[in-house]
Amino acid sequence: MHAGATNAEIDGVIAEIERLGYRSHPIHGVERTIIGCIGDERGKARLTALESMPGVEACVPILKPFKLASREVRKENSVIDVGLGVRVGDTRLAVMAGPCSVESETQIMQSARAVKAAGANILRGGAYKPRTSPYSFQGMEVDGLKLLAKARAETGLPVVTEVLDPHDAELVAEHADILQVGARNVQNFALLRRLGKLRKPVLLKRGMMTTLQEFLMAAEYILSEGNPRVILCERGIRTFETATRNTLDLNAIPVLKEWTHLPVIVDPSHGTGYWQYVTPMAYAGIAAGADGLMIEVHPDPAHALSDGGQSLKPARFESLMQGLKKFAEAAGRAL
Ligand code: PEP
Ligand code: MN
Repeated sequence: MHAGATNAEIDGVIAEIERLGYRSHPIHGVERTIIGCIGDERGKARLTALESMPGVEACVPILKPFKLASREVRKENSVIDVGLGVRVGDTRLAVMAGPCSVESETQIMQSARAVKAAGANILRGGAYKPRTSPYSFQGMEVDGLKLLAKARAETGLPVVTEVLDPHDAELVAEHADILQVGARNVQNFALLRRLGKLRKPVLLKRGMMTTLQEFLMAAEYILSEGNPRVILCERGIRTFETATRNTLDLNAIPVLKEWTHLPVIVDPSHGTGYWQYVTPMAYAGIAAGADGLMIEVHPDPAHALSDGGQSLKPARFESLMQGLKKFAEAAGRAL
């Protein structure tokens, strides 16, 4: 729409888009409103007729296969309000920290207090765990969700936790502030659609074999269902290298920052798989322009029920946070 388009003109265009059989997706930017037309690509020629409507500046086909996620549609960075005063994608870094899995009340409360004291602003912890083996610990499920809600109530930290099954999405949304889609589910389109219909922020992790274009197409599933609050997470990809669990793809950060307005955070815990590499790769991620971090922290990593080898003890997490200040400042960020 033209910079000075009136509300009546915007409403008129929305009505016409819907009459043509498309869904409209208005994006109100600082200078102008852009209205996305969502629907079958094959009928797009009909949309050029919108160009002659009052208030319309241009009708532009988005060339990238991902549309709502693209910088072509929205030039400014998206800042995602996750509740309890925390915004992801702002100058202030988002630091999500906590254990891989919720294991007991004592474990999650100790973790929550420790990460908060060290400066994290979001608590993580898995209640439903995607394990390679069906014989491994699968998570505390609904009891884990209740413990996370308790930790949130005590610390005031918003909570991020994984949804494995589309049927659990609502239940998880009742207890958590951000719904995580794990690497193994990045192309579970039924789950993505479900989370697109719920109005809760989503943390979408890149799959271990997902190209960046496929990753943004996965985000597009959530956005196109009407949920604009998607946070991307680079967590390492599978390569020929066996010295580390995954290869943290730092290239992904500047590429995603160029292609999309969505915030991008980095998970050096899964990205490396070893606690001793987590701190340097966390700093590298921030230096590369990431909007935040996801770090696994456990009060007793040696006895963790999942991912102990890549989990930091609280004291090490505290030193990570101390050292992060310089990198944050150099990257034009704050803690
Ligand atoms: C996790 O965050 O604990 C997790 C299972 O991560 P990913 O899906 O990236 O493997
Ligand atoms: Mn984990």
